[in-house]
Amino acid sequence: MSTIVALSTPRGRGALGVVRLSGADSLRIANELTASAFAFAAKRVTLCKLVEANGVVIDEVLVTYFKGPHSLTGEDVIEFSCHGSPAVLRKLIDLTLKLGARLAGPGEFTLRALANGKLNLAQAEAIRDLVSAQTEAAAKQAVRQLDGELSRALEPFKQQLIDVIVVLESALEFVEDDLPAPQLNTLDQKLGVVQSGVEKLAASYRLGHLLQDGIKVAITGSPNVGKSSLFNKLVERDRAIVTELPGTTRDTLSETIELDGIPVVLTDTAGVRDTVDGIERLGIERTQNAIADADMVLVVLDGSCALRDEDREVLQRTASARREIVLNKSDLASFGKSNGNFPMGVRVSAITGEGLDTLRTAILKSFDTATLESGSLLVTNARHHDLLLRIETELMRGRTELKNRSSEEVVLVPLHNALRLLGEITGETTTEDILSEIFATFCIGK
Ligand code: GDP
Repeated sequence: MSTIVALSTPRGRGALGVVRLSGADSLRIANELTASAFAFAAKRVTLCKLVEANGVVIDEVLVTYFKGPHSLTGEDVIEFSCHGSPAVLRKLIDLTLKLGARLAGPGEFTLRALANGKLNLAQAEAIRDLVSAQTEAAAKQAVRQLDGELSRALEPFKQQLIDVIVVLESALEFVEDDLPAPQLNTLDQKLGVVQSGVEKLAASYRLGHLLQDGIKVAITGSPNVGKSSLFNKLVERDRAIVTELPGTTRDTLSETIELDGIPVVLTDTAGVRDTVDGIERLGIERTQNAIADADMVLVVLDGSCALRDEDREVLQRTASARREIVLNKSDLASFGKSNGNFPMGVRVSAITGEGLDTLRTAILKSFDTATLESGSLLVTNARHHDLLLRIETELMRGRTELKNRSSEEVVLVPLHNALRLLGEITGETTTEDILSEIFATFCIGK
């Protein structure tokens, strides 16, 4: 297996930059780059000079040696902690390449760890999720998975399923008559327990995916109702363009904020308005997409003046979406004075910030995020969720066949499928294709 190298810290200038090597040649390469003056001891940090073949010193670095199999990847690993100059880091990587290393692909360090049994697939994915976690709550869930909590939660299901399969398989081999009804009942009960456990885990994805991907909230409404102002106030930074001319927010803008540990991706959209202006039409199309793509829509109305046709149109267009109506400009004296028929909504002022806490609570409330505090394990990964749903279907099929008193062979097919799918979560039964697809989503150096 070749020795791989990658920059493990972000690109660009920094106080430190870490370059990591993994593979059989790691130690040799480190020795050559440090003029072989050091005998690196495992799990020890050594301060030494990084030198080129011609004796020119490139940097003074800390070298940590992890001797395989007691390392992240299970192979010999060397970490160079350099000064974070892009030039130094590039030079170091070039030199390792000359000495026989090759650049690592995305997730290749983790892939090797997986291949060497240092972690299972669900844990490997947890590393990726931890790195991309946007909030503390998301990071916490990823750490729990890294610790193998999901795999542990699945273990009893797997055991139960194997128990049932064993009974059916041996009946198939050794028992001439059909299994007696009480025994079939017991089997069905066992499968029922597994099924409801799987179902519960799968259901946790509803919240789990929001934790990982964020709640997508699109802010929409007619021109000048204060969408951009509201967006800015929520983001607490001035990124969106606030303007007094209607219809000048031509593009959609997104920012992620954190509400109670949940990432919320806010999108400010251009006004939903029929227009002949080409550029604006493009903006409107994006708005429609943003609305279709959103988990929730904030429909902003100007509460200080009467409802306009455009507002009614926006209300109509978003009627089937999960939405929260926001009555803006509560700071104005004319607020709530017009006797048009305004719908119920959260009263806010994007200028003074009044009512924004109520709005934040309303956003979270509609996603039932209170479960997050119960501390239960959440499925945060789409692949796991999909597999859990498929396991549920197979279990259901198996139970139906069992109830119909189908032959053992017939009952066993979906049960074996379920077992295989369970194994796919932890990677025990995952094919190469699936693995490379998963690791393509990792960043280099992980
Ligand atoms: P958009 O076209 O919906 O994005 O609206 P803007 O955010 O650009 O706001 C349009 C105008 O309304 C600007 O002059 C804002 O300063 C003003 N505005 C927005 N929100 C409020 C508010 O809560 N109170 C008051 N008094 N003015 C507001």
